[in-house]
Formats: sequence, C-alpha cells, structure tokens
Amino acid sequence: MKARATCPLDCPDACSLLLTLEEGRLVRVEGDPSHPVTRGFACAKTYRYPERAKARLLYPMRRVGRKGEGRFERISWEEALGEIAERLKAILDAHGGEAVLPYHYAGTMGLVENQHPSAFFRAIGASELEETICSTAGSAAWEMTYGPRLAPDPEEIPENARYILLWGINSLSTNSHLTPFLKEARRRGAKVVHVDPYENPTSRFADEHLKLRPGTDAALAYALAHVLFREGWVDRAYLEEAATGVEAFQEEAARWTPQRASALTGVPEEAIERLARELGEAKQVFVRVGYGMTRHPGGGNALRAVILLPALLGAWRYPGCGAMLSTSGAFPLNKRFLGGRHLLEGARPHEGYFRPNPQAR
Ligand code: SF4
Repeated sequence: MKARATCPLDCPDACSLLLTLEEGRLVRVEGDPSHPVTRGFACAKTYRYPERAKARLLYPMRRVGRKGEGRFERISWEEALGEIAERLKAILDAHGGEAVLPYHYAGTMGLVENQHPSAFFRAIGASELEETICSTAGSAAWEMTYGPRLAPDPEEIPENARYILLWGINSLSTNSHLTPFLKEARRRGAKVVHVDPYENPTSRFADEHLKLRPGTDAALAYALAHVLFREGWVDRAYLEEAATGVEAFQEEAARWTPQRASALTGVPEEAIERLARELGEAKQVFVRVGYGMTRHPGGGNALRAVILLPALLGAWRYPGCGAMLSTSGAFPLNKRFLGGRHLLEGARPHEGYFRPNPQAR
C-alpha cells in the first residue's frame, strides 16, 4: 500500500514523500516526483527512516550503571511513570513549579506533536525557556525590516531573476530545493554570486565567490549601497512608494566607501564596485540570505542591511525577485491553545507573554 506524507523533520524544505507500507509497517520512503517544488527528492535523513526506525527505543529503560557506562534495564511503563511522577511531585511540593525547567525541541514539526509536552509543563507551572537562539536575531531583523517573513515564489525565479546573490548561506546543502531553480535561472542567463566567509559546495556551484571576513557583512552591504546611491542606480520611485527611513540609510551608506569596506571585509575594492554595478544594471535581483551572519554582535542589523539591497534596486517589483530568509511563521495561525499557552499567566499569553502561572496546578 502507498501513502503520501510530508517530511516532519525540522527543515524548511518540507519534502513531499511517498510511503510504502506492508501489513501496516513502513518499509520504504521515497520523494514524491509529482510535487512541483520538491520533485521526488528526499534526503538521506529521511529515505533511511525505515532502517533508522528499527533502532528506536520501544519501552522505558532505567540506567543501572554509572552515567556514561551505558548499562540499562528494561522497566514497565507503570514503574517509569510512577517514579517520574513521585520525583516531580516532591520537587513541586518543596519548591513550586518554577523549580522544574523543561527542555525539549521539535521531535517532529507537526504543531501538535511538537508542542504537546509544553501543555503538561505549563499545567504544573514549570519555568519557561526560550528554546532556541538559532534564528531569533535573524527573524527579528527581518520582521523589523519587512514585516511578515514572506518571500518570492521560487518557481518564479528562473523566468525573472537576472542576478542571484546567495549571501551567508550554503544553499546547495541546506536548501536543496532551491538548486534546480538556480540552475534554470542560470541557464536563462542569470549570474549567481556567493558571498560567504568560507568555500563550500555553493561557492563551487556559483559563478563567483566573494569571500569576506566573518562578521563584516554589514560593511559590504553598506558599501554596495554606497555605490548604488552614488551612481544613481537606486529606484527612487519605488522607495518613495514603499520605504521609510531612506535618508538615514543613505547617510550611513555614504560613510562606507568601497575603500573603507574593503579594508574591513577583505573583499577587493574593485570587486565591490563591479558587484554594485552588476546589481544596478540587473535590477531584477534575488537575494537568498542565511542566518550565519546574525550570529555576530550586530548581526541582526547586518542582515537588515543585506536584505535592503533588493529594495534599493526596486527588485520587489518583479516576481521571483527580492529577498528570502525563511517563510516560517509568516502565515496566521491560532495558537491560543497550542502547547497549553492558555495556562500561562497574563491577559494574552498566546500573544507571546510567557510567564509561568503558579496557580496552574
Ligand atoms: S531535505 Fe530531508 S529533512 Fe528536509 S524536508 Fe526534505 S527529506 Fe526532510
């Protein structure tokens, strides 16, 4: 029997999958060739699911040796749950809910499965934890700049993008499904440039690799903006219609001559001038950014400077052009009861006011 599914792992690509089941057991996982974006691809983490699933833990095991010794004994569910409940209750009675710090992440990205452990811990008034710092600065930076994390439709890139910047992302490894669109865009004449501190498969794929010193992305972005303003390559009509704060941005860009940026970034001055000219001439530009640059002091603002380049060029006017970080969380979803948010203290906990509720028990 065949069934269709979506890959549940914490990965932005959400591959469409075809599953083969025999007597109710999963025996094969393949990419679904009929999906227009993921096109039959599934990576090694996922198509090997059936063999990995065999090694899964099926029942509770209690450690019997020293930590790290690897010795466990099988116990019943009653014993396991009873022991955990007893220990938790002792802590709650002695110290209250906030003495418990739950830590979990996404076993699968299904919203209910991902969030359900939180409902239990919120019901006992446990401490709250910001579970990831991986994408927080980048997401905040994008939202301050453009609002919701919307992005061009990848299917529209090949026909429209004349210039593609892959900035701070090894997209060939981490956004596999963009690659066919990049190849097709290049076949139709687009230039692909990789901006990244280190060489990786994406640099080798790109037409050009600009290697900058880690943490200097903002200087390079401002220097490119400097040249775009200086040469009159910015789309003033678009900025008037769609942007605020242009003067302040231009003032900052005026301070970042290619010469000054070159000394800081290590990118040759003439390469900065040439890249700016090519962007200015192409106008129909697509910029794919990654989160790496945001993991430096001032990294959120670096990302903001980079993703504003297509706005300066008026690239957002064209389908398939503009900038892309992630569309995660861009679409409205009623999370009021997800993960027991209604159990938190405060008038509107579902709007992000995370505070444990001592009365929850
Ligand atoms: S690339 Fe791999 S992990 Fe990501 S969605 Fe596809 S199959 Fe899943």
